[in-house]
Amino acid sequence: MPLALAIATHRRGACPSLDSPMQTGDGFLARLRIAGGRITPPQLAAIARLAAQHGNGLIEITNRGNLQVRGLTPASSAPFARAVQALVTIERGLVVETPPLAGDDPTEIADPRPLAASIRAASILLANRLGPKVTVVVDGNGRLNLSRLKADIRLTAIGSDQWACSVGARSDRILRTEALMITLRILRQIADLGPEARATDLAGPDTNARRSKATSPIGALTLRTTTATGIALPFGSSDHAALVALADAATRHGVTELRLAPHHALLAIGASAAFLADAAALGFITSPDDPRTRISACIGSDGCASGEIPARADAARLASYLPENRTLHVSGCTKGCAHPRPADITLVGQAGLYGLVIGGRAGDTPQALLRADQLGAALAGGQG
Ligand code: SF4
Repeated sequence: MPLALAIATHRRGACPSLDSPMQTGDGFLARLRIAGGRITPPQLAAIARLAAQHGNGLIEITNRGNLQVRGLTPASSAPFARAVQALVTIERGLVVETPPLAGDDPTEIADPRPLAASIRAASILLANRLGPKVTVVVDGNGRLNLSRLKADIRLTAIGSDQWACSVGARSDRILRTEALMITLRILRQIADLGPEARATDLAGPDTNARRSKATSPIGALTLRTTTATGIALPFGSSDHAALVALADAATRHGVTELRLAPHHALLAIGASAAFLADAAALGFITSPDDPRTRISACIGSDGCASGEIPARADAARLASYLPENRTLHVSGCTKGCAHPRPADITLVGQAGLYGLVIGGRAGDTPQALLRADQLGAALAGGQG
């Protein structure tokens, strides 16, 4: 295992990992690619405790369903990585993503895991020539599909052995038994363009993302042989104590497996309604209608040196004012880490005040500057 830690640089294509944490405004950030996104409650509790011991105790589940630990230091990153690897299997090499319920989803058209495993195995040597962000999505096209996540190469099941393949902006072509061979050929073409190349360099941006809708991962889900209960971390983040308490509750209620899922979610396999009540009491999102699902927020001044406002605390306070169907981004500064895309309403910290941007990004010029005591009324009044 490569435990000699390198620090991820900020060149195009850099990506934080357990081996190469990335410097951020609140220390070093490590992204954990846990094999299959599957983890037991005691493993999750142990990682949360390690996050407090070696980092600042903040743990995130990203929009793509990866676990992230923040606030590590150059000295603590290596012991943290060693301890994590003693607990769980970490995936390396090419990122090949499948939906969190792959193989268990009664609505999926095909189980994507065998093809994904073949692509992973066949790309081992190629992976060193590809940038760390190059991503292949193999999607069974079921209830929790990955249609809203960008991919360099996307293989979406349309039959038991039929895959619609898209590469960047290049439109779908139908692949059958040749899906593995064609995928590898495209990966080689990307690698031949250099270590920073993406599919967009071959075929333009992935406009296929968000083309079809996926169901929310939050709430009750029916699997082939059991059920799952999806919850989400508010603003994608939790402190270690709440996550340990959640994992302990899962164990108490007989849950033996948790799955990391896109959109900051965690699926408890076989969980009962009592687990859901415990999760809600701990502050986790347990309803798809929770307005916090429509809000993005970074830690802001509570943990980031660049933060001008306590963005996440503000977001929690403002959630009840957010009109239905509107999205809100509360950003500690103009960098907009939590949501690089436009939001219906953005509040961005500027010299202790809140810049109001309608239909734009945190870096855009605000239409107004507001004080903290004006925000609730501004949102409730339907700004945007
Ligand atoms: S957007 Fe938030 S996390 Fe990013 S640099 Fe600014 S304050 Fe820090």
